[in-house]
Amino acid sequence: MPCASCELQTCFTNEGEMPVGCPELNRDKHAVMKSTEGFLDYASTIREKETDRISEMIEYAKFKGVKTVGIAGCIGLHDELRVISDRLKEEGFEVNTVMCKTGSLEKKEVGVPSRNLITTETGYGIGAVACNPVAQALLLNKHQTDLNCILGLCVGHDSVFFKHSEAPVVTLIAKDRTNGHNSASILNNFYGDNFFTRRPRPDGATKFNSKRMKLIDIFRTIRARRRG
Ligand code: SF4
Repeated sequence: MPCASCELQTCFTNEGEMPVGCPELNRDKHAVMKSTEGFLDYASTIREKETDRISEMIEYAKFKGVKTVGIAGCIGLHDELRVISDRLKEEGFEVNTVMCKTGSLEKKEVGVPSRNLITTETGYGIGAVACNPVAQALLLNKHQTDLNCILGLCVGHDSVFFKHSEAPVVTLIAKDRTNGHNSASILNNFYGDNFFTRRPRPDGATKFNSKRMKLIDIFRTIRARRRG
């Protein structure tokens, strides 16, 4: 399916030709419309509000009649977990929170090599207890949560959680260690642009490596951009 490279985006305008391989050519339009019925008023209201993600999740949960919210959190975001949990309680939800290390499963028990028990080979501190996204999901299932949220689970742990959670899941924070958990940030700024497109830099260089970029390069770039 060619959506990533599609320049027509006929699905958005609902007019004109569909490109070769377009999934729109085979979809059952009426089945899709049925599944979104009742959501349209809510969706247009929430778009107009341009609200932050946590507030949007709260609005969505209220719209869906959710009573009990589960949050599967990363231990690295414990403060954030507490703040969001308090906020949800203030909004009237029953909240169940479960940390990634629940079960205190020793890494050596699950076959992690001893060289990686406390720190990785590069010296990054990771501790001796394994994360347990399966247990996070099963515990929230046991509490019969109506909606679960992910708060900073690592890539892979999140997909395991999705797989085992009985309640639908909303991602509140996606773990991204280099961008303040804001993965889109490298796509929508100059650094991300350069990284993904490899466009020549304004000073003529064709290769770009943000880690090696010096302050003077940044000034040069800004100046060159301003000049036009
Ligand atoms: S669904 Fe079809 S028209 Fe829409 S972006 Fe994908 S290929 Fe393009």
